Amino acid sequence: MGIVVVGSVAYDTVDTASGHRDNALGGAATYFSIAARFFAPVSIVGVVGEDFQPEHERMLVDRRIDIRAMERHPGKTFHWHGRYHEDMNKRDTVSLALNVFEGFNPTLTPDQQRCDYLFLANISPELQYRVASQVTAPKLVAADTMDFWIQNARPQLTRLLERLDILTVNDEEARMLSGEHNLVKAGRAILQMGPKILLVKRGEYGVLQFSKDGMFAVPAYPLEEVVDPTGAGDSFAGGMMGFLARQGRLNESILRTAVVYGTVMASYTVENFSMDRLLELTWEEIDYRYRAFIELTDSHSNRWNSPS
Ligand code: AMP
Repeated sequence: MGIVVVGSVAYDTVDTASGHRDNALGGAATYFSIAARFFAPVSIVGVVGEDFQPEHERMLVDRRIDIRAMERHPGKTFHWHGRYHEDMNKRDTVSLALNVFEGFNPTLTPDQQRCDYLFLANISPELQYRVASQVTAPKLVAADTMDFWIQNARPQLTRLLERLDILTVNDEEARMLSGEHNLVKAGRAILQMGPKILLVKRGEYGVLQFSKDGMFAVPAYPLEEVVDPTGAGDSFAGGMMGFLARQGRLNESILRTAVVYGTVMASYTVENFSMDRLLELTWEEIDYRYRAFIELTDSHSNRWNSPS
């Protein structure tokens, strides 16, 4: 069951308490694909510039990520510079250069138009809608967005929300979108806007899921050191969608497991700069941390009920 992702493929400059990286491979679609490909075939709809390194293209192809619809345009690749606060849940965008991303008009190949799973990473809701309209009969459409679009493209975002199965936002975005400070009220209000499922990403505090079946909360996997949180949200989405695509169907139990796999993928991403940790990751490590996570959060396992 294939996944199509549309979004940024980027070079990032990042400052965190652990150090600095210049022009490292980044982008929402890139993080998403590298996480999702462990679970299901992925293909990217995106655009890069003439400066996009052949080694990065090779890396994607070697990982069986389909980049046939990743266009190369004259000019430079999208560039983002982010600086994290001591509290890594907070970051500032120092600069952002859209470069070839400006004027990007995504066109899906016939294969991509027939995909079952579609992830619309953080780009303008207008473009997200245009991509969603090209897919003929998707089983599941999920999207991410950000404060800028909530403030500046509300009508386009509202139109998109109505056709979403899953929306992922962070807690501040959930508050901004709903006008509610309390996250439970915010979650309920956003479900009224269209998406069947809402996933609120709360950084080191984990993820809060809202659906018609109620709420589900997972903590982030506790780590001794977070090196670079960039891409945590996108690799979370990659793991979560990847698992859903592998299952090929959706119910509350599958969704909850998907959210845990997403959490596991995000926990690996933040262990190093850029995609360094994801690129050396093995399926055994994913499985190991999934089990560790279940044990971490299991309060009523028979193991703890030894007769006294
Ligand atoms: P995340 O940390 O999951 O929010 O994702 C960070 C990635 O998103 C970085 O690799 C950036 O290149 C990319 N990014 C940052 N700002 C934007 C934007 N406005 N549009 C598209 N991609 C962005």
